[in-house]
Amino acid sequence: MTKSFLIDTSRCTACRGCQIACKEWKDFPAVHTLQTGTHQNPPDLGPYNYKLIRFKEYKINNRVEWLFFPEQCRHCDEPGCKAGADAIMEGAIIKDKDTGAVLYTELTKQFTPQQAEDVRSMCPYNVPRWSKEKGELTKCDMCFDRITNGAVPACVKTCCTGCMNFGEREAMIKLGNERLEKIRKTYPKATLLDPDEVSVIFLVTEDRKLYHEFAERRTPAPLPGMGRQEFLASLTRPFKAMFG
Ligand code: SF4
Ligand code: SF4
Ligand code: SF4
Repeated sequence: MTKSFLIDTSRCTACRGCQIACKEWKDFPAVHTLQTGTHQNPPDLGPYNYKLIRFKEYKINNRVEWLFFPEQCRHCDEPGCKAGADAIMEGAIIKDKDTGAVLYTELTKQFTPQQAEDVRSMCPYNVPRWSKEKGELTKCDMCFDRITNGAVPACVKTCCTGCMNFGEREAMIKLGNERLEKIRKTYPKATLLDPDEVSVIFLVTEDRKLYHEFAERRTPAPLPGMGRQEFLASLTRPFKAMFG
């Protein structure tokens, strides 16, 4: 059975412990960043930031609400990035059948910047980032080295509020539904995001559009030279329904 995350945003305090734990485990260097007038810092995902606490502030029902979104790769069941990569170089991006992790192999280093951008553009959540310095496309790997050695991902290990959870898929779906039942009394709009299509399932308390542009999936455009069938096969189920 594959693994999944449940990210219960109702429990996130935006401490950014997970963001730092990810960098620490990956031994990533500090990067120059900018204070842009928001708690979200750095401003975006990057080659040395696979995890990012996105932050939005709203007035909802006459109350100021802070919405935190611990962003990372969703490890999709039918990954758009893999479909894009397969059209260029079979095997460059793989989906591990035991864990469900979507992994970028050494072959991705052979992509030209344009090919990497083509692959990037196929991600419905706008996750991968090109590293000019490393010459490769980058994103979260589900801490594959840890999870295949009996440990939980670094971001999960460090989260002490119960926001980040990791385990067997069925257990995470069950936990998500239990949490939903409880918090819907306070947050009637609470829902799980795309639980049947991804391994990283977010529980949000408000309309997903409020969190950030790509909390809602975008429909990727087909790559040049990609046939219609190939393109449709690359899309996750709801898009198939739209085009089918
Ligand atoms: Fe939120 Fe947990 Fe990350 Fe802190 S460690 S920002 S509570 S997900
Ligand atoms: Fe690929 Fe994007 Fe899905 Fe991650 S979220 S597996 S980068 S398509
Ligand atoms: Fe970073 Fe590992 Fe968490 Fe992915 S699973 S965001 S690589 S700490």
